[in-house]
Amino acid sequence: MALRDFFIALSENRTLNSAAQKYGLKMGAQSVVAGTNIQETIASIKELNKQGISCTVDNLGEFVYEKSEATAAKEQILEVIKAIHENGVDAHISLKPSQLGLDIERDFCYQNLKEIVALADEYNIFVNFDMENYDRLHPSFELMEELNEEHKNVGTVIQAYFHESDENIEKYKNYRLRIVKGAYKEPANIAYQDKAEIDQKFIELIEYHLLNGKFTSIATHDHNVIDHVKQFVKVNNIPNDKFEFQMLYGFRKDMQLQLAKEGYNFCTYVPFGRDWYGYFMRRLAERPQNLTLVTKQVFTKKTNTVIGLAAAAFLAGRLTKRK
Ligand SMILES: Cc1cc2nc3c(=O)[nH]c(=O)nc-3n(C[C@H](O)[C@H](O)[C@H](O)COP(=O)(O)OP(=O)(O)OC[C@H]3O[C@@H](n4cnc5c(N)ncnc54)[C@H](O)[C@@H]3O)c2cc1C
Repeated sequence: MALRDFFIALSENRTLNSAAQKYGLKMGAQSVVAGTNIQETIASIKELNKQGISCTVDNLGEFVYEKSEATAAKEQILEVIKAIHENGVDAHISLKPSQLGLDIERDFCYQNLKEIVALADEYNIFVNFDMENYDRLHPSFELMEELNEEHKNVGTVIQAYFHESDENIEKYKNYRLRIVKGAYKEPANIAYQDKAEIDQKFIELIEYHLLNGKFTSIATHDHNVIDHVKQFVKVNNIPNDKFEFQMLYGFRKDMQLQLAKEGYNFCTYVPFGRDWYGYFMRRLAERPQNLTLVTKQVFTKKTNTVIGLAAAAFLAGRLTKRK
């Protein structure tokens, strides 16, 4: 199994997620998670705002199979929206439909999303529907479209690795879109597998939306793409208020500050909460070197042992099943 597949498989493991939540609480994962609660997160946002950086806030959480968990996530996101409004910080919301019950019952999920989007709309706060794996792609697009009939403060993500992203970017050109390479493991019949091909598609989609679409968020840590976009907007006279760069909290901090200093709109994706496990494993799948960024903070001896044992058990399970 390639290293990327290994980490993606780990990211999808519910037992490891629970272990990380239980035993990983004390460590705080401070380098990549902005806080464990709303108060700490607002403080982190204020710091970033001071440096000219806006934020998109993600209440971490995956593996939601119970309605009570989805309701709790909704309540938490409503609290974040109130906190953004009350503190007057420059921030919006990123959410994952699965956290709000997409895998449980569609209408239940819709009602949860509607409450969130309506409150955010009242305060003039944008809500981004993060995109997850392919099974959830069309259901998430449809939910967003339905909500857009009443509330215009919604937008979503286009993942460059999907073959169908050309059609989707055209279809959703009137939405504010974040464009990314794509973080999940998808089969070759629906998604490009080759890195060079994905990078090429990524650039094409960014260019298309910059020229034809509403606001574009270019979400990447890839300096080559960023340099290309800088040139492209210059040559095509695309004003700075039509786009922003986005990066994840804790990654390439110097570059984040530099881009903001150069006068580009910059937005940091700020995850918060205890449920950091799946999020973090996907970051390792993207770039195993990311481990060095957080090793000291995240993996104490105790968490190492627990997660290591659970990972071993998980792998043993896979190998047994293969037999
Ligand atoms: C703000 C944000 C939101 C996202 N939202 C989603 C989403 O909703 N759905 C989804 O599927 N995916 C999402 N992603 C993840 C995305 O799809 C990619 O998996 C992820 O960004 C990795 O690709 P990349 O473009 O950053 O660069 P990569 O392809 O990982 O890296 C390209 C090159 O950039 C350099 N580089 C990259 N990272 C670093 C680093 N930390 N330090 C130094 N050099 C580095 C290296 O030279 C590397 O070879 C999001 C990413 C960001 C930044």
